[in-house]
Amino acid sequence: MIEVQGVTRTYGGFTAVDDVTFRCEPGRVTGFLGPNGAGKSTTMRIMVGLTAATKGTVTIDGLPFHQIPNPGRHVGVLLDASAQHGGRSGREVLTLGARMMGLPDSRVDEMLTLVSLTPSEAKRKIRNYSLGMKQRLGIAHALLGDPKVLILDEPANGLDPAGIRWMRGLLKSYADRGGTVLLSSHLLHEVEQVADEMILIGRGRIVAQGDRETLLRQAGPSQALVTSLDNPALAAALEADGVASEVAGTGLRVHASTETVGRAALAAGIVLTDLRSGGAGLEDLFLELTADTQREGNPA
Ligand code: ADP
Repeated sequence: MIEVQGVTRTYGGFTAVDDVTFRCEPGRVTGFLGPNGAGKSTTMRIMVGLTAATKGTVTIDGLPFHQIPNPGRHVGVLLDASAQHGGRSGREVLTLGARMMGLPDSRVDEMLTLVSLTPSEAKRKIRNYSLGMKQRLGIAHALLGDPKVLILDEPANGLDPAGIRWMRGLLKSYADRGGTVLLSSHLLHEVEQVADEMILIGRGRIVAQGDRETLLRQAGPSQALVTSLDNPALAAALEADGVASEVAGTGLRVHASTETVGRAALAAGIVLTDLRSGGAGLEDLFLELTADTQREGNPA
């Protein structure tokens, strides 16, 4: 369990992290989501003692990071996959990590296999790694000590779609075995398929948090987009049920759930050719909540 309590970090007059409070539970993947510069990395650096908090505390399983004995055995950390000595090979980095944590060298081969780095890739110098290979190595390093807690900053950066899917599976099964996972991203779609909980941060402040359903409820009332073989008849049937709709493209936008629309169509015997949720989804919520921190669309 990670507990972040009232954490603030200022740089001169600038507040990078502003009174941030949240917790990450065991058995769950928590996504930490926000646009570039929102304060995710700073918060994560504070968690592991690399940056001091101006105010507030972070504990991991009840202890501040620096008080955890042999921390690599408890907390796996990947903050910057490129922050490795370029002249070392992947195998050397893992071997050094294993020896520092008092682990057998056999653990290195297990981790290389887990992240699909081949023996010849493991021998290559890190300066010749692609970003995706560095991320795989970083994940291997984070998992080396078989920790209970994982803190990963933008781990999907540089991974190809297959790599992202692989990582998703890895993190899900890690949480299913009782692990606590916090992973950050600036991309909603990277996080929403894996995260059980999401923390949305914008300009240093938490703007929303909760599971998918809680966030979707905040995103506003449900709407449906529907196309049928007889849209005017469907609109009339909906109106008879007291449901408003308007023409949208080749179909209708209906101010009700997809279920309501499906039932009305069934009762009226109208064939649907397309029916989907058209409500403000998570992406809209994310953009809306962090709007004043997005560069795009900001007045100059
Ligand atoms: P994110 O990880 O969400 O992209 P960061 O935590 O890296 O955001 O940065 C949050 C804000 O704090 C940014 O505006 C960044 O420029 C600023 N910041 C981070 N570290 C420092 C520092 N050492 N000195 C001054 N400003 C910093």
